[in-house]
Amino acid sequence: MVDFSVFENELVAQQREGEVPFLKNVFHFAETAHHGQERKSGEPYIAHPFEVARILVRLRLDTPAIAAGLLHDVAEDTSVSLETIKQTFGDEIALLVEGVTKIGKARYPKIAVGEKSGIEETTENLRKLIVSMAKDLRVVLIKLADRLHNMRTLYALTEDKQQRIARETMEIYAPLAARFGIEEIKRELEDLSFQYLYPKEYRFIKTHARQYREREDYLKQVTPVLYEKLRAEDVGFLGLHYRAKSYWSLYQKLLRHNMEFDMIYDLIAVRVIVQSIEECYRTIGALHKLYRPLAGRFKDYIAVPKLNGYQSLHTTLFCEEGKLCEFQIRTQQMHEEAEYGIAAHWFYAEHKDQSSYLVSATDQRFSWLALLSEWQKKINDPDEFLNMVKIDFFKDRIFVFTPKGDVVDLPEGATPIDFAYRIHTELGNQCSGARVNERIVSLDEELRSGDVVSIVIQRNKKPSASWLEIVKTNFAKHKIKESLRDNLNSSIRFESKSIELDFTIVVRDRIGLIKDISRVISIAHFNIVNVNIVRTEKDPILKIKCATKDRSTISMVAAELRKVKSVMEVGYRVN
Ligand code: MN
Repeated sequence: MVDFSVFENELVAQQREGEVPFLKNVFHFAETAHHGQERKSGEPYIAHPFEVARILVRLRLDTPAIAAGLLHDVAEDTSVSLETIKQTFGDEIALLVEGVTKIGKARYPKIAVGEKSGIEETTENLRKLIVSMAKDLRVVLIKLADRLHNMRTLYALTEDKQQRIARETMEIYAPLAARFGIEEIKRELEDLSFQYLYPKEYRFIKTHARQYREREDYLKQVTPVLYEKLRAEDVGFLGLHYRAKSYWSLYQKLLRHNMEFDMIYDLIAVRVIVQSIEECYRTIGALHKLYRPLAGRFKDYIAVPKLNGYQSLHTTLFCEEGKLCEFQIRTQQMHEEAEYGIAAHWFYAEHKDQSSYLVSATDQRFSWLALLSEWQKKINDPDEFLNMVKIDFFKDRIFVFTPKGDVVDLPEGATPIDFAYRIHTELGNQCSGARVNERIVSLDEELRSGDVVSIVIQRNKKPSASWLEIVKTNFAKHKIKESLRDNLNSSIRFESKSIELDFTIVVRDRIGLIKDISRVISIAHFNIVNVNIVRTEKDPILKIKCATKDRSTISMVAAELRKVKSVMEVGYRVN
């Protein structure tokens, strides 16, 4: 049932009753346009844009964005044109609708399992998304809300479509939400994808959810005690609540900790919301006085925020009854920015006009976006492009500094060469050595967050083909190849035809292992030719024959395979 009063109440709760009449108008317009249409789930179509708009209200987006959410499928799916929307509701709303419409729907034509034609489509949509988000960032939030509601109703689609959409969500949309700092949407997208992509593992986590309940019961008892104790310390706090870890991030963490729930201290974290930054530090002081902290777990993300802007103080304490418990201390604004990211940032901005939604090259938080739109113009090959986005932009980030103190963000495992290419192509090409924190390091040294990196150059130096094995980012790879290609004297030639190789992987068998392994291989766009399992007296050995066009990624894939849980050894041979 689509009940406008639900929506109205949500606006009123945000003291936005002034916007209700206009949005009601837009709602009726959309309802009329979609009249008679149904979703796969059997609901009237309007339920979809309606829910999308509700998500946008939750993110506290402005009226034009919410209106565009209500209208986002009108231009494409009904007889009402964009021109009519423009005449009825004005340029700003029409532009947003156009932006969302242009990205297009993932239509997912029927493709036999195992073929990879979905990639072209994903890539095409992603390119359009990048172009339109550079024009107005609200478009990407409307698109995220659209995808979130589609994921909530994914059960109505065929299994084939479920797999494709869930995979795309896990690989593109959830990381995108994360990069914009919208934790709440990221969590939900991941958990929804999780149940379709790894149903067995999802059920495993759900069955063990009683661990959540136990901790929740504990926290329910402990909260009033905490409340009193903090009061007595004269800490002025606004709220004290707790939040369970999402199923997907719990699963990821369990994989790193031998599936032992007892190793996870932030299964449920206590959040203390206080009035000011000063109070944050006073609160943590009080907490550390009340309870013994677990060594090495205190993190000050206020002094050194995460790259997506996240701020809080974290600590793990031996709380009441000596039980370990994670605490996150933050101000109300930090809290909202942590949950709603860029959306909260806009909400708190003092001056708002259409230009606030543009990507500003000077805003360090969005420098990655400017870079991303630059790269989408340069790289034509869909596989290479998708790979670049996934690894260079969405993988877990580290941030390092130039000697001048500028922040540069890179994927985990990046080397000084990646850093050099990220700063400037010539710096990369002429790179002959590097210093990290004043110490001379080799060029394959893994950088870590907080490192200060300076590059030693040598004029007329050319990159070496061996760098392709060292670098982590695809843009460095791309630049190195370009330079090698340009260099006519170079004896390296690049094969464009497929090469075949065999991975030999010694494993301990477990549920989901093959899936995890083939996931690593397919993320790199290697085609699996065949899989053989050799049972030995000891551990079983997997022989996987693959084909790839990109020789340079083989060692990286092998390294990734080594990280998969229960993988003991990985070897490979190129045929
Ligand atoms: Mn839609």
